[in-house]
Amino acid sequence: MLYSRRDFSKLAGLSAAASLLPGNRATAQSPGPQSARDGRIGYCVVGLGRISVDHFMPGLLQSQHGKVSALVSGTPDKAHKLAQQYGVPAEAVYTYEQYDRIRDNAAIDAVYIGLPNSMHAEYTIRAARAGKHVLCEKPMATSVADARAMIAACATAKRKLMIAYRCQLEPVNLKAIELIRSGAIGQVQAIQSANGFNIQPGEWRLNRKLAGGGPLMDVGIYSLNACRYLTGEEPQVLSAYASVIDHDGRFNEVEENVGWTMKFPSGITATCSTSYGANMDGAYKVFGSKGMLELSPAFAYQGIHMKAQVAKADGSKGHDEIDLPEAIHDPQQFTMQADYFADCITHDKPVKMSGEEGLRDMELMMQIYRSAGLPTA
Ligand code: NAD
Repeated sequence: MLYSRRDFSKLAGLSAAASLLPGNRATAQSPGPQSARDGRIGYCVVGLGRISVDHFMPGLLQSQHGKVSALVSGTPDKAHKLAQQYGVPAEAVYTYEQYDRIRDNAAIDAVYIGLPNSMHAEYTIRAARAGKHVLCEKPMATSVADARAMIAACATAKRKLMIAYRCQLEPVNLKAIELIRSGAIGQVQAIQSANGFNIQPGEWRLNRKLAGGGPLMDVGIYSLNACRYLTGEEPQVLSAYASVIDHDGRFNEVEENVGWTMKFPSGITATCSTSYGANMDGAYKVFGSKGMLELSPAFAYQGIHMKAQVAKADGSKGHDEIDLPEAIHDPQQFTMQADYFADCITHDKPVKMSGEEGLRDMELMMQIYRSAGLPTA
């Protein structure tokens, strides 16, 4: 299965493959106010930090179905420089205080929210009230109540809400799902996954009010979400531990490490770890009765690589070679994500990585924190 970034017809394939994912109770909604004048969906990028500037906006430059049509930032110099670079008119550059004015800009179909976690809810709800669709970064929010309020606001406004789970559109992850569903590795028995990094002091990610939690909310969420899309099941029971090992001031407000295990209804067990104290490769291994597959890395912006041993199609001993999807490079995952959402908006299709999908992870992360004896919002 090959995907090229300029082949829009492949989006249908992405949608079909994404339909293999669990827990996507997407709702049909009316089309957006209007696709952008040249047929592309106009995105208003809110928050000009690393994910927006280094990945999402370059992704839109390669998009045939989306474009940057407005910017929201607290740093006017930076915003105006980027506006020039992306052909955004000066009047479509807003401060946070001016955010609600996006209502009057018909070139904005959707907002992309690249802000610290605790700001996602407010900026999603205000966007929906302004009549705009929302593509919101993960984690969706910092509390279950906020996640529910975001879903309700978008439903009331009849706007679509998508959580930026880019791995659910990424071809190697989709191939892993396809192999598992087809029985190529037999009955899945166990999954292992780890994702983490050694964080620098001073990051908003270490501030509970802005981040909502530590590495679980930030990067452990990839392992959690992967276990759900790989099994196609929802965890039945889970158990977790958390710790702080480095008492160097970084972890006064959020945890340093979380380890958790989950059991799924079929009996599949999963063991996951996340950390802000160690670099972890963002990988997973899936062990089945007839083979195994490993994606290492599984969640990176590029270089996602699969090693697989799958049962021979004719049932004989040994393992078959498999066709791997073409590797994609940064920022293609962001192009795919923006194009997928553009397709959902333009053709009024249900969004697979819906608010409900984000809410499910929020509920589970809160269960993990409770099990580990940590406070929850
Ligand atoms: P960042 O710190 O680089 O950018 C955050 C932006 O928010 C900056 O422009 C900052 O000026 C702005 N901001 C507004 N109010 C702020 C405040 N009170 N405090 C701090 N910043 C404020 O962060 P980032 O790495 O771009 O992460 C942004 C969001 O994107 C997070 O929710 C994160 O989880 C998510 N993210 C997703 C991916 C992915 O692959 N999908 C990768 C990285 C980050």
